[in-house]
Amino acid sequence: MPLHRTEAFLLRTYALKEADKICVFLTKDQGKVRGVAHGARKIRSRFGSALEPFTEVALSYFQKEGRELVSISTCDILRSHFERGARDVETASAFSYMAELLTEFLPEHEPNERLYRLVLATLQAVEAEDGDLSQILRYFESWLLKLVGFFPDTSHCAVCDATISTGESVFLTAEGAPRCLACGEINYQIIRHALERDLRSRSLLKQLSTA
Ligand SMILES: [Zn+2]
Repeated sequence: MPLHRTEAFLLRTYALKEADKICVFLTKDQGKVRGVAHGARKIRSRFGSALEPFTEVALSYFQKEGRELVSISTCDILRSHFERGARDVETASAFSYMAELLTEFLPEHEPNERLYRLVLATLQAVEAEDGDLSQILRYFESWLLKLVGFFPDTSHCAVCDATISTGESVFLTAEGAPRCLACGEINYQIIRHALERDLRSRSLLKQLSTA
């Protein structure tokens, strides 16, 4: 059972038994990893305050073949991003939100280095005091969805099949279907829904406006 060493972000922790704790990490080279830290006293002494979301740690763990849950050997703090989070409720809840998204969307033990870099870049953006938090979160969401394969192909409108070039506005339905500017207009959506068909004059209008 080889010891695996990696850098990682802590995403969340929860109690397992009275003495044990489960920690969820985003590791640099193995994607999401869930591990058990045996012994609460050991956790206190070894991990100290490292258990806040997005603390960067040097992690080592053992993984038994066929088992998802690894056994955490060491977890040393490299860097805490929580100082700002502790000062500022908004940042703390943004961190929790990001951690929950990663926990929910990522499969276990699937390396995704671009995702790791996305988290680093996002944390840096949050720490730059002038960063707009909600804009940063939208950026994070879009890239997360892209990197885990949930962001739709937006090169074609799902309604009229028109090509949507990069830089052009694209609308997405809640189901993730892309719509070009013309098809995305909400008034026209209501009109078409009410009539249950397209207006012929509409396509001429569209041709003229894109000419
Ligand atoms: Zn369209």
